[in-house]
Amino acid sequence: MSTTATRTIQHRIAGEETSGSSTRTSVVWDPATGRPQAEVVLAEPADVDAAVAAAKAAFPAWSETSITRRTKIMFAFRNLVDAHIDELAKLVAAEHGKVVEDAKGEIIRGMEVVEYACGIPQLLKGEYSDLISSDVDSFSYRQPLGVCAGITPFNFPVMVPMWMHPMAIATGNTFVLKPSERDPSASNRIAELYAEAGLPEGVFNVVHGDKTAVDALLDHPDVAAVSFVGSTPIARYIHERASANGKRVQALGGAKNHAIVLPDADLDFAADQLTAAGFGSAGQRCMAIAVVVAVGDAADPLVEKLRERAQRIKVGPGLDPSSEMGPVVTPEARERICSYIEGGVKAGATAVVDGRDLDVDGGGFFVGPTLFDNVDTDMEIYKDEIFGPVLGVMRVGTLDEAIDLVNANSYANGTAIFTTNGSAARIFQRRIEVGMVGINVPIPVPMAFHTFGGWKSSLFGERGVHGPDGVRFYTRGKVVTARWPKDAAVAAAQLHFPTAS
Ligand code: NAD
Repeated sequence: MSTTATRTIQHRIAGEETSGSSTRTSVVWDPATGRPQAEVVLAEPADVDAAVAAAKAAFPAWSETSITRRTKIMFAFRNLVDAHIDELAKLVAAEHGKVVEDAKGEIIRGMEVVEYACGIPQLLKGEYSDLISSDVDSFSYRQPLGVCAGITPFNFPVMVPMWMHPMAIATGNTFVLKPSERDPSASNRIAELYAEAGLPEGVFNVVHGDKTAVDALLDHPDVAAVSFVGSTPIARYIHERASANGKRVQALGGAKNHAIVLPDADLDFAADQLTAAGFGSAGQRCMAIAVVVAVGDAADPLVEKLRERAQRIKVGPGLDPSSEMGPVVTPEARERICSYIEGGVKAGATAVVDGRDLDVDGGGFFVGPTLFDNVDTDMEIYKDEIFGPVLGVMRVGTLDEAIDLVNANSYANGTAIFTTNGSAARIFQRRIEVGMVGINVPIPVPMAFHTFGGWKSSLFGERGVHGPDGVRFYTRGKVVTARWPKDAAVAAAQLHFPTAS
């Protein structure tokens, strides 16, 4: 690909920026203008080796560092992220395309995981059983795994890696991050802030790259655990390959999130919330609402309210403070989204608002908010994750039908219901087969002190990220049984299991 980009984004290994053995590069676009703004180096296996070796070398000292010292560094890191929030948000907006306020929001949500990780002395407390036998005590505690790897998507270049590295590092591991090659700069800046906070070299490393780098991490004998967030086909692949190599792995996949709207709901409130949840970040959120399931009489007025709101959204460059929604991330993403819209029209859905008609100056990768009515389950716009600003409305007769519809979908990341009926909300909350559930909350992202994770094709592996699962994922338990006899003369060993206490 020809590019006029002048800036090269390099790996950051053991505190040094380096291109290592990388000769291939990938363009980093400015989505708002459609022009390349930089190139990022793509790691070869030797670069991954170098990053893992740096992390491996740093592990003995870091895992022996006192928990209070680790906490102090995490606390300093948290304050540095907070102090640089505007700069980080602009970096994200410039490469991802989202508006700056939204980028700030993702950094704040990520920082909450750092804050949770600052409580690691409390979270890592073990258990102690005094006197389980004469002169014998037993206790259990958790230890770090070693080198952990994170492979992350483009849509939250700060927050999603922060679901992983603060937890891994606070629990005493070292870390290699392979961020998305589409918006790589924020990860290098995060590495600098960790260094400024006092994190020793090699504890946090960044390698940029594509499948070659990912495969090298999945196959590396010195990588103990892999955390992945991205699309479902890649999540499934990561889970299979890392598991086959004996690694601990959590792989969060894609989504197709439904919101059910009952006729008793406050429809203005629901329409406001669904507009934000469907079109915020141009629909490029794993917890975006993609499908509205309108029950009974809710449908006609709701579609009208959604239409009015979709048409009012101000679409423009992410760095322009007056924009409410930015462009999508790459030309390929724009093409994919537009072809889904075309497919939806051809399949017979009603395009109430068609985002392909939008005209924004400057040649960026813009697609306007798109609203479909009369979507059905056979249509590609229903079956596939479009990952763009496309909201589809489906019409059903009852809450039962709505719940069955959601449960039949293979994705199960997030879902929501809008209603004023507590009993209906409770039926929904109990019967719905989805990992994260909102009641009059369209994007029910769990706070850092709970665990984030979907079900079915939205999560491979049994543990989600951050919260209690994060602590357990990055540590393994050890149980010690200790005897300190008061008398030197201990009874002679017997071959049978103890029968006396
Ligand atoms: P992606 O799957 O294309 O890429 C994710 C990561 O995998 C990137 O680092 C990429 O370099 C790497 N990768 C891409 N192709 C690969 C291959 N063939 N082999 C090995 N590695 C490969 O995802 P994306 O487009 O960057 O992000 C959007 C997707 O992420 C959406 O599907 C979205 O739903 C999902 N997502 C899920 C969550 C969640 O919590 N479940 C959160 C954020 C994003």
